[in-house]
Amino acid sequence: MKKTANNVQSLIKLCDHPMVTERLLKSSERITRAYAELFSGYQKNAQEVLNDVVHVKNYQGTIKMEKIHFYSMCEHHFLPFLGTCSIEYQPNEIITGLGKLVRLVKDVHGPRLQIQEIMTKDICDDIMNILKAKGCRVVTRATHLCVCSRGPQDDLSETVCVYSAGSLLTL
Ligand SMILES: [Zn+2]
Repeated sequence: MKKTANNVQSLIKLCDHPMVTERLLKSSERITRAYAELFSGYQKNAQEVLNDVVHVKNYQGTIKMEKIHFYSMCEHHFLPFLGTCSIEYQPNEIITGLGKLVRLVKDVHGPRLQIQEIMTKDICDDIMNILKAKGCRVVTRATHLCVCSRGPQDDLSETVCVYSAGSLLTL
C-alpha cells in the first residue's frame, strides 16, 4: 500500500504539480484506495456469481437483459470507459438469476484494466462456458475518456462492440 502510494506521488509529480497543498498530500492514499475499488473485478469469480441456477427443459427462446451499466478502465491510457451492456442467451438446461447477469458485468468484468472488445468477448465466454448455453450475444456501448478528454476530444462518440457465439452467432 505504501509502495503504491509512493508510486502515485511520482505520478502526481509527473504532472508538474508542486504538491504543496494539504489536500494533495493525502491524494496518493486516496488514489491507491480508489484503484483497489476500480480493479476489484480480479477478486471476483464468474463461476461463483453465476452459480444460482434454475433447471429448465425444452426452453426454445432467449433471455435478454439490457442496459446493465458498467465502469471500466482502458489499458492503453489508464483512463475510464463507461456505458451499458446487453446480454442475450439461449439456455440449454440451466438459467441464472437476472441479478446475477448484472453482477457478472458490474462486479466481475467492469472493474478491470482492459479494452472494451475483450471485455465483451469475456462476458460472452462466461455465459457459454459456465451456463453451457446454446448461444449468447453480448453488446456493449461505451464512452471512452481517452477519446473524449484528450487526443480526438470527441465527447459524443460511442463505441459499440458485439460478440456472439453458438446459436446466436452473428457477424
Ligand atoms: Zn484508451
